[in-house]
Amino acid sequence: MNLSAFFALPAPMRLPPSWRRSWSAEGLLLAVSVFWLLSANDTFLHRALEGRLPTQPESWLFGSTLALAQVALHFLLLGLLCHGRALRPLLALLMLVAAGGAHFIDAFGVCLDASMLRNALRTDPAEAGELIGPALLASLLFKGVLPAALMWRVPLRRLPFWRALGRRALWLLGALLLLLAAILIEFRPLSSMMRNHRDLRYLVTPANLVWSTGSVLAADLRGAARPRQPIGLDARPGPAMAARTRPLRVVLVVGETARAANWGLNGHARQTTPELAAVPGLINFPQTSSCGTNTEVSVPCMFAPVGRRDYDEDRIRGSESLLHVLARAGVDVLWRDNQSGCKGVCDGLPSEEMVRLDPPGLCAEGRCLDEALLAGLDERLAGAKGSGVIVLHMLGNHGPSYFRRYPERFARFQPACQSDDLRQCDSTAIANAYDNALLYTDHVLATLIARLQAQAQSSQVDTAMIYLSDHGESLGESNLFLHGLPWAIAPEVQKRVPMVMWFSDGLARQERLDLDCLRRRAAQPAAHDHLFHTLLGLLDVRTALHEPALDLLAGCRRS
Ligand SMILES: [Zn+2]
Repeated sequence: MNLSAFFALPAPMRLPPSWRRSWSAEGLLLAVSVFWLLSANDTFLHRALEGRLPTQPESWLFGSTLALAQVALHFLLLGLLCHGRALRPLLALLMLVAAGGAHFIDAFGVCLDASMLRNALRTDPAEAGELIGPALLASLLFKGVLPAALMWRVPLRRLPFWRALGRRALWLLGALLLLLAAILIEFRPLSSMMRNHRDLRYLVTPANLVWSTGSVLAADLRGAARPRQPIGLDARPGPAMAARTRPLRVVLVVGETARAANWGLNGHARQTTPELAAVPGLINFPQTSSCGTNTEVSVPCMFAPVGRRDYDEDRIRGSESLLHVLARAGVDVLWRDNQSGCKGVCDGLPSEEMVRLDPPGLCAEGRCLDEALLAGLDERLAGAKGSGVIVLHMLGNHGPSYFRRYPERFARFQPACQSDDLRQCDSTAIANAYDNALLYTDHVLATLIARLQAQAQSSQVDTAMIYLSDHGESLGESNLFLHGLPWAIAPEVQKRVPMVMWFSDGLARQERLDLDCLRRRAAQPAAHDHLFHTLLGLLDVRTALHEPALDLLAGCRRS
């Protein structure tokens, strides 16, 4: 595309004569830095100045120092990045990125840190499509495209290379001194604000986006340079697994964005899990916490031997998962995905995507309803030899378009928000759409259990189902929506998730499971950290990685 032609303005929008004097590159970078302070940092300024009275002179001193520091910081960033012919294209790109980032921060209260960026970069076209609405387009147009078009038209003075370099160095030095001076003047309040509200730095737009993109790319490059570290090399079938006469089929359902607070079985004000509530022998874990607040953190973490209790993202991403350990011990493993992939958890293992399978009547526009995960499942369950684990990765309650997650017959709670832009709906309509999506998850899980029950009765297999959501969701509490806030500051609703387990009668007998004991255990706190060890124990895969203290079933086997 010819960018000059793209940004050419119609005659009425041409720059006034005084603007037609040529600008220095640094003047333009400074103007853009000031523009970002005014257009892309509402939430940052609001949060940073929270609790300060406009009547106090200290508030004004703090506010103006903060503004100066931010302008200096953005100028430093631009001054280092934008040179010569790359100046305008890079500046235009950053202006668009800043406009988009500001929209998501202001609309949903999200924080653009590295893990949020990883989520955004790994998103698929269908997921991205649901986030594009009139509000985002308006923000991109008025805070991105039009200002970038104006910027493109500003005539720039051309200087000889060495003079330009010297001039840039002086401006950068000036900006650095200004930044240092601002920090020194307000050192105490600034340092206490940054210590107590670490998330604030991820609201400074677009420095947050540049920093987070850089750290994700650096981590990916580090990861690409190192092969995935094998774990559980000692994994082997235990005596119970080796002595099995009936094959064992475990279906692990990884939920999406279901939060514990709205889970009917946990005592939510309205019944969002009526079908599961009628399943005999179902065990509900009402106090389960997730490992992270977004899919990119939670999914790899729940399949890792050490999760939240000693969280190390690089180690988890750089290592094999529970599924590799199970496969090493001879367990048949299959990942069935109805979302944005297995996040490395099933690398090199058999997997299938529902959208490619395209079961009739369940998929449209690159998305499938979660019942697609049940299509062809009976054949796959019957096809596994020995012990087998099938993971079903749900689309669940993936937001903001909750209303797209369920078929019409589950639109029971009304009125339900029918917009991709949550700000168009009131809190009741948002909660209604969210709870309708939970009703549908309840139906999919209960249908799955009925299938497993039928398999157990007709084909001499033992079956089990474990459902665990990846993280929770904010539905407008404290003006927060969606999820993905840094762990340290995320509200409980983003960190508490539903978990249920079901075992066929034959399996409970074979494993000598004391279900009453397990029900008592389920009333205690549980976490994603338990999943790795509980599945190893259930399948009787022996490895030094297995920690019985974290195996939820270990204490509930009859001797
Ligand atoms: Zn998720």
